[in-house]
Amino acid sequence: MSLHDRPLGKHLISIEDLDRPSIERILDRAESFAEVSGREIKKVPALRGRTVVNLFYEASTRTSSSFELAAKRLSADVVSVRSAGSSVDKGESLKDTVQTLSAYDPAAIVIRTPYAGSAQLVAGWTPASVINAGDGKHEHPTQALLDVFTLRRRLGSLDGKRIWIIGDVLHSRVARSNVLAFTRMGAEVTVCGPPTLIPRQIEALGCQARATLDELDEADVVYVLRMQLERMREAFVPTLREYAARYQISAARLAPDQLLMHPGPVNRGVELSADAIDSPQALIGEQVKAGVAVRMAVLYELLVGTPILQAVA
Ligand code: ASP
Repeated sequence: MSLHDRPLGKHLISIEDLDRPSIERILDRAESFAEVSGREIKKVPALRGRTVVNLFYEASTRTSSSFELAAKRLSADVVSVRSAGSSVDKGESLKDTVQTLSAYDPAAIVIRTPYAGSAQLVAGWTPASVINAGDGKHEHPTQALLDVFTLRRRLGSLDGKRIWIIGDVLHSRVARSNVLAFTRMGAEVTVCGPPTLIPRQIEALGCQARATLDELDEADVVYVLRMQLERMREAFVPTLREYAARYQISAARLAPDQLLMHPGPVNRGVELSADAIDSPQALIGEQVKAGVAVRMAVLYELLVGTPILQAVA
């Protein structure tokens, strides 16, 4: 068995679960599913007769809709549960909810919660494969995979590319997953933001840290994060206006050949100006589009790709 053929683990909790060949394998698979998404009938029978449960305890537009579409395009039966309006409102715990939904014998549970570490806990409560769709400030691995997919399509390879991740790194699961994924794929990553929003020892993840945009010119890719105001219980910046003055990416701050990314949803006029969002350098729409093919690939690789063995070290 070549490295490229190594099976994925049963769950996808963190980018740490994936080495470079596993990431490449998911992206190659996603390319073939992107072709399916271009057909008039966008379905393949890979998961016919199997059930995928989407369990979302936190707001989501892109991730929840793309996981739902991905599972449907693979012909799975899909049950989507949002905590609002479910028995969670009646006080049912996460564990009881997962065990209740496990009674339907799902092949996979896609879980989003505001609590770091919860996807790992869920994996201990169900025989299903568990996919982390965002657990608090911890990780959002499928976002990182779709970002690598989008960049690989544009740039061919991430090897040696310089990627700046800018903004509220402290509260961002996307930043954590993306630093890991981008560096694993050979990029040099710099995180940049006000010192109050850059975690101490972030360099341990393999990136550099900067407090100003002074050297932004060196970046091939400018990846901007949302200010996660819902996670802030104190003032991390004097005012959003001041933050925008120092860190907002506008078309004027972008060099002509730099690519611009953002995971969405964007706070227009805070971390990005309207002219940057609408500029031809922005890949934001491509990122959303990539979400379906990449999530189809993740479901396929975990549930069908190869015999399901232990996690890749
Ligand atoms: N949609 C991404 C997430 O769920 C990014 C964000 O919300 O800022 O983490």
